[in-house]
Amino acid sequence: MNQSMIPAAKPIIGDDERAAVDRVLASGMVAQGPEVATFESEFGDQLVAGRTCVAVNSGTAGLHLGLLAAGIGPGDEVIVPSFTFAATGNSVALTGATPVFADIDDATFNLDPASVRASVTERTKAIMPVHLYGHPAPMGELQALADERGLRVFEDAAQAHGATLDGAPVGSFGDFAMFSLYPTKNMTSGEGGMVACATEEIARNLRLLRNQGMERQYANELVGFNARMTDIHAAIGRVQLTKLAGWTQTRQQNAAFLDAHLEGVRTPPVVDGAVHVYHQYTIRVTSERDRFATALREEYGVGCGVYYPIPNHRLESLAHFAPDLDLPATEKAAQEVISLPVHPSLSQADLERIVSAVNSVAKAGA
Ligand SMILES: *Cc1c(COP(=O)(O)O)cnc(C)c1O
Repeated sequence: MNQSMIPAAKPIIGDDERAAVDRVLASGMVAQGPEVATFESEFGDQLVAGRTCVAVNSGTAGLHLGLLAAGIGPGDEVIVPSFTFAATGNSVALTGATPVFADIDDATFNLDPASVRASVTERTKAIMPVHLYGHPAPMGELQALADERGLRVFEDAAQAHGATLDGAPVGSFGDFAMFSLYPTKNMTSGEGGMVACATEEIARNLRLLRNQGMERQYANELVGFNARMTDIHAAIGRVQLTKLAGWTQTRQQNAAFLDAHLEGVRTPPVVDGAVHVYHQYTIRVTSERDRFATALREEYGVGCGVYYPIPNHRLESLAHFAPDLDLPATEKAAQEVISLPVHPSLSQADLERIVSAVNSVAKAGA
């Protein structure tokens, strides 16, 4: 390989973020304060139709505390996909509840409502879909099922800032929704998570849980965590929020170019009514995926990723929850997916290199 590697992901952090951090450092007040409060209201207004947002120090903490704030605990079951980052199932397990893994739709990689229906028991309390790769999960069907069976809906929107379904933003469907602000996500605060809440009760519980159970100093109402976001991180997040729409548009344009020019692989579909924000641009190859990915990296310098090679119900950490589970669409996706670079720093030359690399490897393998 004699050309530079096109990275699979590339956080964009520049002078504006640096200036915002300097401003907070110069103030001498760096822990959770006014920047966090402003970030919460700007995020809610811009991304979740004005819902109350509560910032925490990671997306994982957002899911864990969101579930606790909604009253999930030991004896409960929460239905989640297995084809996702482990934080989805981990957060359920951390509450003492049981993650129940359902299968995905073969085309969109998101929860399959029929599999969710088959997974409901008398202990099921909630369904927590993931808007995987930035494509909205089928919220209409899942909400209808939840209404029918008396279940609640929560959203893992870690990868889907700005995605919409039938005009409604992801994060505005569930009782709560978590957005991750990790550096490789569509926007970042360094580390962090934002939880959009449907009710003031959940928002208040979250604020208590992130701060040792205190609303008033030293008058602790419950046993809580320190999961606060710092004003330094919030300042970075506020700058990123102003750039998100432009970056999303670039991701969508990059995806459209790949859709139009890739050959011999299955490109990611977008369902009617959905706006995909392409956290990942994920193709499928039907044989020898690992060899395909290695060739892209080593022969063509195209950074790419496999998200996720091991379904959660097969992980050493989570498998005991589902010893005999068979999720065929999940297993198949785990063997076939490759995510190509789609981030907003790609040049036209990068995009052309990605296309020619994928098409060459696909052709050679055929
Ligand atoms: C990134 C991610 C998380 C966890 O977010 P962190 O901010 O890294 O803790 C949870 N779920 C999904 C689907 C993710 O992609």
